[in-house]
Amino acid sequence: MTITLYNTATRRKEGFEPLDPENVRMYVCGPTVYDRAHLGNARPVLVFDVLYRLLRHTYGADHVTYVRNFTDVDDKINATALARKEAGAPGTIEELVRERSDETIGWYHADMDALGTLRPNAEPRATEYIDQMVAMISQLIADDFAYENDSHVLFRVRKYAEYGALSGRSVDDMIAGARVEVAPYKEDPMDFVLWKPSTDELPGWDSPWGRGRPGWHIECSAMAHDLLGAEFDIHGGGNDLQFPHHENEIAQSRCAGHGFAKVWMHNEMLQVEGKKMSKSLGNFFTVRDLLEKGVPGEVIRFVMLSTHYRKPMDWTEKKRAEAEKTLRKWLDLTFALTPSSSDDFKPRPTLIAALADDLNTHKALQYLNSSLYADPQALLDHARWLGFLSDNMREEHAETYMRLQAGGGTNAQLSALAAQFDGLRKESMLKKDFSALDAMKAALVDAGVEVRMSSDGVDLIAGSSFDPSKLEALL
Ligand code: AMP
Ligand code: ZN
Repeated sequence: MTITLYNTATRRKEGFEPLDPENVRMYVCGPTVYDRAHLGNARPVLVFDVLYRLLRHTYGADHVTYVRNFTDVDDKINATALARKEAGAPGTIEELVRERSDETIGWYHADMDALGTLRPNAEPRATEYIDQMVAMISQLIADDFAYENDSHVLFRVRKYAEYGALSGRSVDDMIAGARVEVAPYKEDPMDFVLWKPSTDELPGWDSPWGRGRPGWHIECSAMAHDLLGAEFDIHGGGNDLQFPHHENEIAQSRCAGHGFAKVWMHNEMLQVEGKKMSKSLGNFFTVRDLLEKGVPGEVIRFVMLSTHYRKPMDWTEKKRAEAEKTLRKWLDLTFALTPSSSDDFKPRPTLIAALADDLNTHKALQYLNSSLYADPQALLDHARWLGFLSDNMREEHAETYMRLQAGGGTNAQLSALAAQFDGLRKESMLKKDFSALDAMKAALVDAGVEVRMSSDGVDLIAGSSFDPSKLEALL
């Protein structure tokens, strides 16, 4: 089966032909590790997780190398480390920076694991590849593609004729768009920083240009080269990285004589309830915020993969509720089954065909939810292959199910509702008007709760299609 992928560089879908089927290589720009990942950051992680699964299926699990970096050279990381130092934390600034990055990398792993994503084969940290960056910058200077000025090293954008080809912009348009910073040490405003000086109190590395730190773009070029070679198959990231980050990566790597990436893939941005996620609008939240609110990671995964990666995606409460309902239904259906061993399991061609068509995850989920619905064992195995119905999720669901089955006494929500229902029942009998009672009963039944009335009172029993989110409106 041929995998077709939309290549941003050529603006069309292309049949994917790896440079070496024995070692298919993919690089994805990872997070800057200054704080918790926000919900938007999870989108590329999920999109490229699905691609990684598809490539492993097609070429063999041992024949795919997926690299996703950590950017741990950053002003915000430095600011936290410096504040801690000033507050009396022991250690050098480098150690405190490392401590902060370790902390946020730990959070990142926990959050992305909760979404059911596989860890990449390598997760290089920029600070561990400074030598490779210095070597690459030195070569660019030697070949006249870069120059040193006032302790800075800059890349001469005008020397690379194809600059702007990826995002379809000309250098002059970019200047007109005023997206470039004019600085006295630049020959041309378009030139971008490969190396810059560091102050005494902030982390820095010795280099031929004095103590300093690398620019962001050279980090990815150097790490990709070191781990994947001069030419590799796929480079991914969010749309916001096309310009300038990816244009700059291409310019540096090509001018250093590297073929670099063949296929460029970009996911569109995530919004929340139709608006750009932003702190000022109050709709900014992290993956952890959702997990702590009780939204299972697999629900986030389901919502994200329901929209094709090249379309803008809107996170809404409605989608969250629908995804949770579908997943709970799958969990109920497959409750008592034992998953097939992942080594023996082969997904059906229909599912693979959907994913091989430029990652049509929407279609893949529909296939699971319709065609496989009548075959719970197939549903369980395919869902797990796609990162759903993990052991954790199944255990958590079983516990909730059993706790709720144990009756109103152990569940505060249900017993509160039972008391409410009983009160309403008595009131209705006095008024001889049962419309409110009927409405509440219908809402309970809709939430998958069985209502048992007796002379002793009311018992509410959660059934297998129980959807706790629907109770919230009743309380
Ligand atoms: P950053 O740490 O900001 O460099 O982002 C890490 C990854 O998340 C990059 O691939 C970004 O393109 C991606 N990203 C950031 N914000 C969003 C968003 N709102 N929607 C989708 N992807 C995003
Ligand atoms: Zn990058």
